[in-house]
Amino acid sequence: MFEMLNTILKNLFSGPVTRPYPAQRREPFASTRGQIKSVIENCIFCMRCQAACPANCIVVDRKEQTWSVDPYRCIVCGMCVEVCPTEAIIMNRHYRDPVKHREPIVKHQEGPIPKINPKAKGIN
Ligand code: SF4
Ligand code: SF4
Repeated sequence: MFEMLNTILKNLFSGPVTRPYPAQRREPFASTRGQIKSVIENCIFCMRCQAACPANCIVVDRKEQTWSVDPYRCIVCGMCVEVCPTEAIIMNRHYRDPVKHREPIVKHQEGPIPKINPKAKGIN
C-alpha cells in the first residue's frame, strides 16, 4: 500500500517521461542515418551513385549536369555516400520533415564539370 502511494505521488509531481516533440527534439546519435544531401559543386557525374543505389532512386544526367534523388524511395543505406569519389553526397543525421507532396530533389550544376581530383577515393 505504501509502495503504491509512493508511486502515485512520484508520478503526480514528476515531469513527463516523453519529450514535447516536435517542439523539443532529441539530438541524434553520431551514427544516425537521417537523409542524404547533395553537394552538387563536387559532382563529376561519374554515375557511380546511380549504379550503386539498391533502391534505384538516383538519376544522374551528365549532359544536363543534373543529379536527382527520390527521397521517398531512399532507404538511407549510405551506399551512394560510400561510392562517391568526390564527397558530392553526404549523410545528414537529421530525419526528413513530413511533406504534403512527393517530389524528387533535383540539383543542377552550373558551369563546367569539375576536374577529377586524383586524390579522390577510388580514382587512380
Ligand atoms: S542512401 Fe542508399 S537508397 Fe538512398 S539514395 Fe543513397 S544508395 Fe540509394
Ligand atoms: S558518385 Fe558522386 S560524383 Fe559521381 S555522380 Fe554520384 S554524386 Fe556525382
